[in-house]
Amino acid sequence: MVVAEPTGRSMADANDRETDRLAALDALDILDTPRDDGIDRVVRLIKHVFAIEIGIVSLIDAHRQWYKACSGLLAEEVPLKDTFCRYVVACDEPLVVEDATKDPRFARHPAVTGADHLRFYAGVPLKTRDGHTVGTVCAIDRSPREFTPRDLSVLTELAGVAMDRIELLQSAATDGLTGTLTRRAFREEAEKLISLAVRHQHELSCIVLDVDHFKRVNDTYGHAAGDEVLKAVAATCQSNLRASDLFGRLGGEEFAVILPHVDSKGAVAAAEKLRAAIAAQTIHGDFGSLAVTASFGTSTLSTKTRDGGTLLSQADAAMYLAKAAGRNRCVDWLSLDAGYQAGPRQRVLKAGTILFDDSHSSIDCTIRSLGADGAAITVSNSAGIPPEFVLVVAGDGFEAKCHVVARDRQNLELAFG
Ligand code: GH3
Ligand code: MG
Ligand code: MG
Repeated sequence: MVVAEPTGRSMADANDRETDRLAALDALDILDTPRDDGIDRVVRLIKHVFAIEIGIVSLIDAHRQWYKACSGLLAEEVPLKDTFCRYVVACDEPLVVEDATKDPRFARHPAVTGADHLRFYAGVPLKTRDGHTVGTVCAIDRSPREFTPRDLSVLTELAGVAMDRIELLQSAATDGLTGTLTRRAFREEAEKLISLAVRHQHELSCIVLDVDHFKRVNDTYGHAAGDEVLKAVAATCQSNLRASDLFGRLGGEEFAVILPHVDSKGAVAAAEKLRAAIAAQTIHGDFGSLAVTASFGTSTLSTKTRDGGTLLSQADAAMYLAKAAGRNRCVDWLSLDAGYQAGPRQRVLKAGTILFDDSHSSIDCTIRSLGADGAAITVSNSAGIPPEFVLVVAGDGFEAKCHVVARDRQNLELAFG
């Protein structure tokens, strides 16, 4: 199969298709969610059925391939431009490469020439019910091999099983590890509380918290210890919140709270109480004992901020600023520089490009939230991105000069102008 890069008219069609695809992915709300036994099992089946070394179920956003489940490779995500799977998404068709060293598209690929030593690749689209390719399901090996049409149809069936599982997960209200609300359930409940507060003009605030350096916990003490830490953090939060507060797990080590009838001062006080309780706690287990901290962002309903998407993305932005300011602290969206935090933000999932060096350099990114005054974006690696650049959203014909307000390894908070 020959894959042509799109040009002219087909470029516009490809942009539309990508916009629809990202909207379908956004609706699934699955990126960066916790591991799931059912999807891990699909990956184990891939390895078993094909007697193969690597199995992956992945979701693909605008700039990266994120592994919902992966066995045989260490990474959790890879930049999209470096993947074989981008061809599956671009063509919306399965791709089989029996020997990558003999395929001019992949023969010089670092995963083929380097330590990963990949040779065989079979990938099929992971499709939603209405036909949008949101990711891939792959069988990969370090030796060349054949793949029959029957093998391909089995892999396609397994992709269907993975999608069924993803759709089932969406209907789950509680997270298997911590027993708290899942992201989707949390957001649904949050919207109800927010519309009540708007209708009756009650105060309402939001807290987003993210455990600091959690990757180090996993790397040092193991994944099981990391799981124990997450359970302990969730339990500590719940025991320090009111029964009327809504608590949920947004993703890996990120949690959120909705506090009805609480103003911004009260939200900061509640966040500070949670911060102190987490920092003071020692977690014991087979791994010994350890302590963690977390960073907090708060936001509050106002005449400008009247919906859940904006409220959460403002708290999220404030949380990233707390990380940038040194972690183990709380930052209120309202305390931010007035010029920077001026307007509402909508949660989105869009493909963007960062341009710098007089447009000689570009980096793909995924835009997570967007407002008139700023945006939050994610990249594969923020090192090397200058403090000022131009952000382009090709699908929307949008272009803005930006400066970086806060950044971590993969996330950037941007102010326009
Ligand atoms: P920061 O202070 O900037 O937040 O750094 P961090 O290390 O906490 O953040 P990063 O996003 O780099 O790493 C989060 C890690 O959380 C990576 C991922 O493997 C891990 N993780 C996500 N979900 C789970 C889970 O359910 N259990 C365990 N043990 N780890 C998880
Ligand atoms: Mg973290
Ligand atoms: Mg995190």
